[in-house]
Amino acid sequence: MSKEVYYSSTRGDKSRMKASEAILRGLAPDGGLFVPDHIPQLEKSMRELAELSYQDTAYEVMKLLLTDYTEEELKYCISHAYDSKFDTEEIAPLSEADGAYFLELYHGATIAFKDMALSILPYLMTTAAKKNSVKNEIVILTATSGDTGKAALAGFADVPGTRIIVFYPKHGVSPIQEQQMVTQKGDNTCVIGIEGNFDDAQTGVKKIFTDPELASYMDSKGFQFSSANSINIGRLVPQIVYYVYSYCKLLKEGRIADDESINVVVPTGNFGNILAAYYAGKMGVPIAKFICASNSNKVLFDFFKTGEYDRNRDFVLTSSPSMDILISSNLERLIYHIAGDNSEADASYMEQLSKDGKYEITDEMREKLSCFYGGFATEEETFEAISDLFRNHSYLIDTHTAVAASVYKKYRAESGDTTATVIASTASPYKFTRSVMNALGEGDDSCDDFELADRLSELSGVSVPAAVESIRNAEVRHKTVVEKNQMESAVKAFLGI
Ligand SMILES: *Cc1c(COP(=O)(O)O)cnc(C)c1O
Repeated sequence: MSKEVYYSSTRGDKSRMKASEAILRGLAPDGGLFVPDHIPQLEKSMRELAELSYQDTAYEVMKLLLTDYTEEELKYCISHAYDSKFDTEEIAPLSEADGAYFLELYHGATIAFKDMALSILPYLMTTAAKKNSVKNEIVILTATSGDTGKAALAGFADVPGTRIIVFYPKHGVSPIQEQQMVTQKGDNTCVIGIEGNFDDAQTGVKKIFTDPELASYMDSKGFQFSSANSINIGRLVPQIVYYVYSYCKLLKEGRIADDESINVVVPTGNFGNILAAYYAGKMGVPIAKFICASNSNKVLFDFFKTGEYDRNRDFVLTSSPSMDILISSNLERLIYHIAGDNSEADASYMEQLSKDGKYEITDEMREKLSCFYGGFATEEETFEAISDLFRNHSYLIDTHTAVAASVYKKYRAESGDTTATVIASTASPYKFTRSVMNALGEGDDSCDDFELADRLSELSGVSVPAAVESIRNAEVRHKTVVEKNQMESAVKAFLGI
């Protein structure tokens, strides 16, 4: 039996929570993020794991980190999450193109990688509520840069004992992303646009979360908050699985030898996906380099280059909106770890970030970042990557994946590093059809995004996903737009309290 894993705050709050308690809470009481007290090692060898299905791999990984769930509970969650909602049996297939392996994480219900974690989170959460005898209704509060919102809505719609409220930047998501969210069915769902950007939405949500008065008022009305954002460890843990799985797949197919290291490239926004890769590495997957790809909002690129995190800059709207973020929440977990699991240091950096919008880490901490490489791609480079892969390698990718592909190409040219490389492919090209068509030189302003999807399908031979077809003519059910300082009242209005 492996040792129990407990979770505590990155900022010093002394409570030690079991996994199910941390998942229920989402955020630590002091506003910090939950981190594991140790990172367990995989129990089976990569060769043994390579014989397993995605679901069985998920069990092998998740049982090590979610130690208070029973085998029966975890297997129930896994089998209900990773089923025919995914349009490929493999759940996360790998495609080789132009000398890299694209790990396609977008075959779930809402065609973005958020489905990988959000199809299981509702099961983990409701199981946690049962285990902890929670009587309150759980209110999932979510800020989205476009993809988390829909994936969380799809996961939680009509789940008994839960309500879900999603805030998105009214002018910062793609038309297909918006249509996906505002047409969401389910009596327990609520979608609200805010006049602000993603960082405003995320800051507002965190504020609501950490307000103790509001929490006790909610409790008196029979509600308690939780989060579906990647600050919740229930998001992070399922994301570790596909890094283990993809390594094993390469091994099984003879593309790498035993113990051979790989690199991973991750198009990054809130730093959740790449942090999951980092944890996979700590658990024993041989990963040499974590290549963090940013778009023009290149705070992380600058951070890896200089050791200073500085959000004081203009927020740029790009064609990869799910990465338009200046405050990458999950970086806090990495900061905590490289400071030597030091919550005092972490709390001080986060206070500087909130006060001055910046902080600078020590040289000693920077040394621990040598396995990371930060890169960024401009809009032009992003479009070039889409066009090059399609025209020269017959492989169609979306704008976010293109940021990663472009950064990887520059990295390989610059470093000469020929290590086998997995690129996280985070969304279907059909979620960002207009940008993809523009990149291919096939843009047409007179067409709406759905007509463009039909044209893209003709051009590429890749059929329009069901997730897009099903919202084409769907009724708009959510029309509320609020100022960013009205988020709390919007929550209360929806709950009728
Ligand atoms: C959320 C998202 C990202 C960024 O992932 P993080 O975990 O926030 O770094 C990248 N691409 C797509 C398509 C996304 O939806």
